[in-house]
Amino acid sequence: MVERILITGGAGFIGSHLAEQLLDSGKEVAILDNLSTGRFENIAHLVGRPGFSFAIASITDTPVLDRLASESQAIVHLAAAVGVKLVVEQPVQTIETNIMGAEAVLKAAARYRAKVLIASTSEVYGKGVRVPFREDDNVVLGPTSRNRWAYAASKMVDEFLGLAYFQKYDLPVVIARLFNTVGPRQTGRYGMVIPRFVGQALRNEPITVYGDGSQSRCFCDVSDTVRALEALLEQKEAVGRVFNVGSTEEISILELARRVKSRLNSDSPIQFIPYDQAYAPGFEDMQRRVPDITRIHALLGWRPRLNLDDILQRVADWQHSR
Ligand code: UDP
Repeated sequence: MVERILITGGAGFIGSHLAEQLLDSGKEVAILDNLSTGRFENIAHLVGRPGFSFAIASITDTPVLDRLASESQAIVHLAAAVGVKLVVEQPVQTIETNIMGAEAVLKAAARYRAKVLIASTSEVYGKGVRVPFREDDNVVLGPTSRNRWAYAASKMVDEFLGLAYFQKYDLPVVIARLFNTVGPRQTGRYGMVIPRFVGQALRNEPITVYGDGSQSRCFCDVSDTVRALEALLEQKEAVGRVFNVGSTEEISILELARRVKSRLNSDSPIQFIPYDQAYAPGFEDMQRRVPDITRIHALLGWRPRLNLDDILQRVADWQHSR
């Protein structure tokens, strides 16, 4: 029997790449997406491929979710609020989408004993100061008066709920904490730094560095990320556990701006924008965010294949082609 996998949020940036990868591996793929931040154009090229189907509906549309879950052996839950900017601006929607969405997916999966892979986020490490971040580290979040932390808290609830379904009902659940993921089809619309910097550099507009640019991140190409997700889905030993998925190549945001400028031969000036103008007054950023990927490497032998320069090239080529 061909395995059929449901991807919630499958028309999004990561979901659409995962769909493609799973179809290439000979699996059947159904996508559920309400197109709130996902785009049909991300999956248009998959329409008509054998084993591919989609439903434009919300994860809280219970009859649709129930039908799709009943037809699937596994569910990858990617449907969630996207990006810090949206989270700061739309707190109610963020919290509701993240918590109610995961709850609906786990309930539906439990009815049919489908395996669930929940995409969580490096945001759950909050203000963690011990770098690199390990899956079992303690986490420190900011106060509830700062919207940003609602995202981390809501994804933590998703993780707790997923692990609780595993413990109480023996439902096979895996948690992947995705660190900054980049690649073709990601737009700068939701604030993500690399598509924004690349677009600004290609148009010779100012490259907008928030704060002093000393904050750092590690960027992972989406092709590496979806390879990790597929492997996690297939590996029985991953069940009931949490895994970091990300690159360990750390770069400060100011250095990133310089790198983008020089690699794309751009005349863009670098412009510093205070955080409270970029986001909201009192906004707190994460200073460093680096994953420890020992756990996933030990289990699956996974580590990223593409480096930052490869990623910048792929993003620039994609933006050019549009
Ligand atoms: N950032 C920036 N300029 C931009 C967009 C983002 O300096 O135009 C910074 C942002 O403040 C953060 C980092 O780049 O420190 C990564 O931001 P992104 O939204 O891509 O991901 P995050 O790590 O915040 O989830």
